[in-house]
Amino acid sequence: MNRFKGKTVVVTGGNKGIGLAIATRFAQEGANLVIASVEAEVEQAAKSLAEATGAKTAGVVCDVTDPEAVKALYDRAEKAFGGVDISVQNAGIITIAKVEDLTVTEWDATMAVNTKGAFLCCQQAIRHMRASGKGGRLINIASGQARDGFIYTPHYAASKFGVMGMTQSLAKEVALDNITVNAICPGIIKTDMWDYNDRVWGKMLGDFGPGELMASWVENIPMKRAGEGKDVAGLIAFLASDDAEYITGQTINVDGGLIMS
Ligand code: NDP
Repeated sequence: MNRFKGKTVVVTGGNKGIGLAIATRFAQEGANLVIASVEAEVEQAAKSLAEATGAKTAGVVCDVTDPEAVKALYDRAEKAFGGVDISVQNAGIITIAKVEDLTVTEWDATMAVNTKGAFLCCQQAIRHMRASGKGGRLINIASGQARDGFIYTPHYAASKFGVMGMTQSLAKEVALDNITVNAICPGIIKTDMWDYNDRVWGKMLGDFGPGELMASWVENIPMKRAGEGKDVAGLIAFLASDDAEYITGQTINVDGGLIMS
C-alpha cells in the first residue's frame, strides 16, 4: 500500500520502540518522516529509516517539554517537506514508585513529557494544518493505564488520562478544519519501557526474575501474547488514512483484549 505518498508525518519519540515502528509503517507506505527525540542519535535513526524504506526522512533533536523546540520541530517539517499532514504524539516516560516515595519532581516530569509535551505538539501541528487549509490527522499515544490506572504509577496514569481529555477537547475545536484528533491505548508492548516496567514492578510486586512479570501478565491477555510496535502502528496508520476520515475524538485500545480481563 502507498496510502501516505506525498504526506509528511511527524512522530515524537520516533527513534525507537513504538515510535520507530510507527515511523517505519508510514515510511513503508510512502510518507516523508520527521522523527524527534531528545538524544542526538535520532539523526542516525532517521538515516537508517531512510535506508531501510527509501523514504525521505529527517531526525530532529527536540525535547517535547520545550515550547520553542517543539515550534522549531514543526517549522523544520514544513521547511523540509512543505507541510505537516499527520502528527503522532508518542514521546513518553514512566517511573514506578510507592505513593510515599513518589517525588514532586517525578510527578512534574511525567506530566511535562506525557501531557504538556503532547499538547505542545498538537498545538504546533494544528497551527500548520490550519494554515495549509488541507486538514490533517493528530494521533496521541495514551495507555491502558488511562482506562483503569495501575498500582505505583498515579502520575503516569494521570498524565495519560490527561491525554484522553485533551484529545476530546481538541477534536471538537478543530473538527471544522477537517482535522481529526484521536488517541490510542496500547496494552503491554515489548520495548525498553516495558523492560523497565518488568524490572521495577517485578521487584515491587513479588520475587519476579527478568521477564517473569511480563510472562505472568501475558497469561491474562486473551490473545496470550505481548503486543509489538507493529500492532500499534497498524492502528495508527488506519486512523491517519482516508478510511478514518469520519472518526474523531475517540480513544481505541490495542491490547489483545487485556482491558476485558
Ligand atoms: P520507549 O521508552 O521505548 O521510548 C520512549 C520514546 O520517547 C523515546 O524515543 C524517547 O527518546 C522519547 N522521549 C522521552 N522523553 C522525551 C522528551 N522529553 N522529548 C522527546 N522525546 C522524548 O517507550 P515505548 O516505545 O514503550 O513508548 C512509547 C509511548 O507508548 C509512550 O508514550 C508510552 O507511554 C506509551 N505506552 C507504552 C506501552 C508499552 O507497553 N511499551 C504501553 C502503553 C503506552 P530518547 O530515546 O531520545 O530518550
